[in-house]
Amino acid sequence: MNEKTDIRQLIPTELEAWFEAADEKKFRVRQLLEWMWTKGINDFNLMTNFSVELRNKLTAEFDFQRITLINQQISADKTVKAAFRCYDNQVIEAVLIPSDDRVTVCISVQTGCKMGCTFCATGLNKQARDLTFWEIFEQVAYSRREASLRFGAELSNIVVMGMGEPFMNYENLTRAISLISGTPGFGMSPSRITVSTVGIPDMILRAADEDAKFNLAFSLHASTDAERNKIIPINKKHKIDDVIDALKYFQQQTGGDVTFEYLMLNGVNDSPDDLKRLISLCCNFRVKVNLIPYNIVPGLPYKSSSDEIIDYFVASLSKKGIIAIRRKSRGSDIAAACGQLAGTGGKSY
Ligand code: SF4
Repeated sequence: MNEKTDIRQLIPTELEAWFEAADEKKFRVRQLLEWMWTKGINDFNLMTNFSVELRNKLTAEFDFQRITLINQQISADKTVKAAFRCYDNQVIEAVLIPSDDRVTVCISVQTGCKMGCTFCATGLNKQARDLTFWEIFEQVAYSRREASLRFGAELSNIVVMGMGEPFMNYENLTRAISLISGTPGFGMSPSRITVSTVGIPDMILRAADEDAKFNLAFSLHASTDAERNKIIPINKKHKIDDVIDALKYFQQQTGGDVTFEYLMLNGVNDSPDDLKRLISLCCNFRVKVNLIPYNIVPGLPYKSSSDEIIDYFVASLSKKGIIAIRRKSRGSDIAAACGQLAGTGGKSY
């Protein structure tokens, strides 16, 4: 563990006090914030408008607990899975997904996940810690550079759907989002950021009351509480209807989009009755449905529904006027697809 303080822990008033005590001008704080959050620089030596003396003073006292890229795998469909080592040796993953009109990154918020969803590779590692806001931010900084170098494009969308449950690390997540979308920061449009949750009503209500600047995706994945209890343990505490009530409030308060994510699991949630119930859950609600073919996770007992059934779900929802999209599975050959991230650094699949 590093003994110096990560300078990003200091709030602006603390930075001002430090610069004053170091006999440095106040405007240097603004420059430092621009280096860190607008340019995404995490190395004092690269802060070229600082004197060598100032850089040495900063280096003597502070550090950056960086995430370090340790592995990059490229899928046949050009999806990039990046594994990063954190300061405490934990490994996290982010996935960069290029498509015709956009480049999206899927980022992580914890080093594993305690939610224990039975279909998910991340949930196999329950010893999770929360990522700091700068560890979340650095995944986006990396993705912006990589999108430009590799695809000659700007990073256009962020989905918080990687490792971990975002609402279990809400403070760090919202702090990172304010830097990704604010000034100083990357200034990305909040409408391009989607946070995916298994559904924690209290936290959704809090986000609504705080006028959160992101869209929400709810990992529904079942049409009844009895079914959902079996695959998403937190459902025993937070029922589907309670989550949907909270989502409606979120939409009312913030105007953000809401999506239902529905993993298509063969023989688990893909019967005609499931379809009917899914349609009725969408009633009286401006919600879009993403139907997601299941990506195999070694050691877990699930298979994806057939293409015919998935297409039938899409067509039936559409007929009822509900926007329904079959999500393309991206990067499944490198275990980068939805539900496959396990923080293994690409070594154990
Ligand atoms: S699906 Fe999401 S909430 Fe569930 S175990 Fe995986 S990472 Fe955690």
